[in-house]
Amino acid sequence: MSGAPIRSVVVAGGGITGWAAAAALKRRLPHLDVAILAIAPPEDAFADRIPATLPSVLAFHGDLGLSEGDAIVRTRAGFRLGTRFVGWTQGLPDYVHSYGAHGQAIAGSAFHQHWLRTGDAAFDRYAPAAALGREGRFLLPGEPPVDGYEYGLVLDLSAQTAMLRAFARHLGVREAAGDLRGVRHRADGSVEAIETEAGTLAADLFVDATGPAARLRSTMEGARTDWRRWLPCDRLAIETVPATAAPASLDTVEAAAAGWRYRIEGAVRTTTGACWSSVHDPRPGGIAFAAGSHAEPWAKNVVAIGDAATVVEPLEWTNLHLALSGIDRLVTMMPDRDCAPVETAEFNRQARDEATRVRDFLLLHYVTARRPEPFWRDMAAVELPDTLAHTLTQFAERGRLPFYEEETFARDSWLAVLLGQGVRPRRIDPMVEAIDPAPIIAGMARHREALAAAAARAHPCRLSSGASPTGPLMNEHTIRQVVIVGGGTAGWMAAAAFSRFLANGVTRITLVESDEIGTVGVGEATIPPILTFNRMLGIDEGEFLRETAGTFKLGIEFVDWGGLGERYFHPFGFHGRDLQGVHFHQLWLRERARHPIPDISAWSMSAVAAGMGKFGRPAPDAQSAVKDLLYAFHFDAGRYAAFLRRYAERGGVTRIEGKIEGVETRAQDGHVASVTLADGQRIEGDLFVDCSGFRGLLIEEALKTGYDDWTRWLPADRAVAVPCALPGEPDPFTRATARGSGWQWRIPLQHRMGNGLVYSSRFMDDDAAEAELLANLEGEPLADPRRIRFTTGRRRQCWNKNVVALGLSSGFIEPLESTSIHFIQSGIARLIALFPDLRFDPIERDEYNRQMRDLYEDVRDFVVLHYKATRRSDTPFWNHCRTMDVPESLQRKIDLFRAKGRVFREGQELFATTSWVAVCLGQHIVPETHEPAADALDEEKVAAALAQMYEEYQAVAQRLPTHAEFIAKSGAASPLAAPRPAEPALPTFSFENETPFADRNFSL
Ligand SMILES: Cc1cc2nc3c(=O)[nH]c(=O)nc-3n(C[C@H](O)[C@H](O)[C@H](O)COP(=O)(O)OP(=O)(O)OC[C@H]3O[C@@H](n4cnc5c(N)ncnc54)[C@H](O)[C@@H]3O)c2cc1C
Repeated sequence: MSGAPIRSVVVAGGGITGWAAAAALKRRLPHLDVAILAIAPPEDAFADRIPATLPSVLAFHGDLGLSEGDAIVRTRAGFRLGTRFVGWTQGLPDYVHSYGAHGQAIAGSAFHQHWLRTGDAAFDRYAPAAALGREGRFLLPGEPPVDGYEYGLVLDLSAQTAMLRAFARHLGVREAAGDLRGVRHRADGSVEAIETEAGTLAADLFVDATGPAARLRSTMEGARTDWRRWLPCDRLAIETVPATAAPASLDTVEAAAAGWRYRIEGAVRTTTGACWSSVHDPRPGGIAFAAGSHAEPWAKNVVAIGDAATVVEPLEWTNLHLALSGIDRLVTMMPDRDCAPVETAEFNRQARDEATRVRDFLLLHYVTARRPEPFWRDMAAVELPDTLAHTLTQFAERGRLPFYEEETFARDSWLAVLLGQGVRPRRIDPMVEAIDPAPIIAGMARHREALAAAAARAHPCRLSSGASPTGPLMNEHTIRQVVIVGGGTAGWMAAAAFSRFLANGVTRITLVESDEIGTVGVGEATIPPILTFNRMLGIDEGEFLRETAGTFKLGIEFVDWGGLGERYFHPFGFHGRDLQGVHFHQLWLRERARHPIPDISAWSMSAVAAGMGKFGRPAPDAQSAVKDLLYAFHFDAGRYAAFLRRYAERGGVTRIEGKIEGVETRAQDGHVASVTLADGQRIEGDLFVDCSGFRGLLIEEALKTGYDDWTRWLPADRAVAVPCALPGEPDPFTRATARGSGWQWRIPLQHRMGNGLVYSSRFMDDDAAEAELLANLEGEPLADPRRIRFTTGRRRQCWNKNVVALGLSSGFIEPLESTSIHFIQSGIARLIALFPDLRFDPIERDEYNRQMRDLYEDVRDFVVLHYKATRRSDTPFWNHCRTMDVPESLQRKIDLFRAKGRVFREGQELFATTSWVAVCLGQHIVPETHEPAADALDEEKVAAALAQMYEEYQAVAQRLPTHAEFIAKSGAASPLAAPRPAEPALPTFSFENETPFADRNFSL
């Protein structure tokens, strides 16, 4: 083995595949000299011809570091949520294959098993993306129920190729024009150089992206395996017409006599056509192709990518996906110059397995279809390849699907097609049979209705990026200027999210902040929905932790709340597993009545791991209870805002530094027209987002919206905060310790501990509070204490006229359950979902205000619960809290819990059963008895199940790494508070600036 690294690569092929390969190689392996022979892609290179893509294209763009603006908006891509299949099985309605979860697992069993037993509505009715698509709407994944799905794009192929070309050249890829004349080999059969019209191109490695002809790879040994007996379609027609006014977010594939017809609606054009078998339908026309795949796409120093490796019909639009996946694989497996067989063999194995499973998935559509024509009868009788036969046998027996490593389509996709085409297993999971179906049926109906309602509320193609500035979705009512006032956590979270989701090419986003005023500077503990926010923004978790010096949080430990000397844990995730439709805590209550058992937190994966100082990332398909672990983060608030600022500015947000001294409103409707800075600069806007903190510069000072004061239920109105040195390794949880007139928080970060005392000025003065905080620190203080005043409550309308208040300007509930950042996130998600146009329809505003009011009130009740449910009588403060009246809505919940431990989640309430159970039990609201339904279960079996779960949580937690070990491996910040390393030297890429292209061509 030479061990010499590969220095130069030549890519042959100038379609999307070729340019994507060149860009990815140069971007991710910058030391390489990458040249491309940009031959126009042939008509049968489907990866370069089919506009519909799978969700993987977005990850590919993300890995390249392309902004949403460049990769989607400026290339005029549209969004797609899936495919509607019509007429594939006679007698059955059409069905939708969308990407992502269908329903949720129930009592530890897969959702489809329950559906098979009880489902009375189509399987796709439980898929958020399908629900949206069927309504002709689009919404980016956000909060439940419209979460947990992915989407693909409909590309404008020429704009996408141009963007990738501009990007690759910006990175330094050299471009050669002309056609391929010949291939020169060395004695060992490897390629030495390719001959072009303009000269010779030599390299260490060659990437063949020339389409099915595989003009480089075909000059070497080995041929494609023929798949025509399984995929007999061999003609494809492609036609385009101008786009419709509101493109559908689902494409359509309709079965025909000898194949299928399709329609893909993009933002710029609609693509239609047909794919058929010329043996069964000899009509002329169409592009000829023959399905098959190379067993060895990589031979010597030539790697075939995309259609050069695998040719399949575009059913399910896998062609570009396979190409991008091959590029990814090549980048990760880049060998030395001698291309050792052990590396190429692994590349070939993975590529082969992946292509084989794609073939099986496509064939699945044919062999499970039921139609009378000869083509379909032939397909129904075809002898199956082993892998597909295995899958179908497993499914037919008990509805199970075997696991394959290199699978393009997730289990839910296989299920969507199998169940959509009427395939049913002989039996279902016996565990499911044992469960009472009534609550499951009711739960499924609720889920379905929630999805349908959420879909109906979404905007028609709201975020389809049909957004060339002149695109069909933009009109004279489109909001053109959004002004965010304030650059604290709220301002930058909003700016980051808008930069991604309002990137329509028209709406400009400006943020104004004042260094002189500064931010509140606290707010460092979060709750699990923050994971969704990060996912929506495509934020890498390791990078996020590094940049914010973050740690993981598994819940909150409450000390001295129920009574002095007591502690309990409020975990994320849930307690145990429900059995036969009965909530776990009901079983625990019954068991506890029989004999003493451990605290309920021993049945929470998050609590058990937290107790041991352990952490592990829960893979959703993990076989062990680790998948029950749910987490959030602690982070440094200042670094978080800075991190989001970089993100937002990369996405095109303009930041203006300056103090706002004037707000101008319009005479005719009272809307805010502009804000004026101290230096006289006037900033106009259509929509203003008030993130100015407690004062509410626009929502209150300018619009006089009004505020509901909730101090009578939550008397704390002051806080004093101070960071201190870490006393040891950071715990994976927040601690809230009740004190005489309030409580103290303790938030461990990687480089310090955040501390603060929240208290009521009626019961304690500021100096005493500061002294109490300093006396209770576990390490040296690292700064002067900072005093903060607040009034608990909420703005009467979070959205008033053209101002939407986010963050502290919208209201404040003390940070006992770390909910404020969630209010911001939730406000942003709702604002995006209800985003107005210049007409400011009151329906959207009222809906937003209703949802935010409910959220605030639900959280208020949950936080008040902690004060009310106490036995403490040692100070006037606690006597006041214990004996105060509480909101009627909370009293009802307490009474329900006290009677039989019942918890009902109302509407979209944030805190669910686990939370209420943890706090009520932890603070002595103990149910008089349990639900009668729990008595129906066999006592001994329940006891055994509890014992088994207990053991499992303990054993799994033991095996996890410590929290500190996990952070060190996956997201350690550079040594103590070190500044972020400088951004890569590469100047920022913008497709807009790159066109027309600066001539950086190279000469041979
Ligand atoms: C004691 C305490 C503890 C907290 N702990 C948590 C927690 O653990 N978890 C959690 O989720 N939340 C917590 N929060 C809430 C959290 O801190 C806030 O929700 C979050 O920081 C958002 O603040 P903001 O961006 O709305 O306001 P700020 O941080 O106050 O930002 C206001 C911005 O507006 C700008 N501004 C104001 N006036 C002008 C002007 N005239 N001209 C120009 N710019 C102006 C300021 O410069 C600043 O950039 C806590 C809050 C407090 C008070």
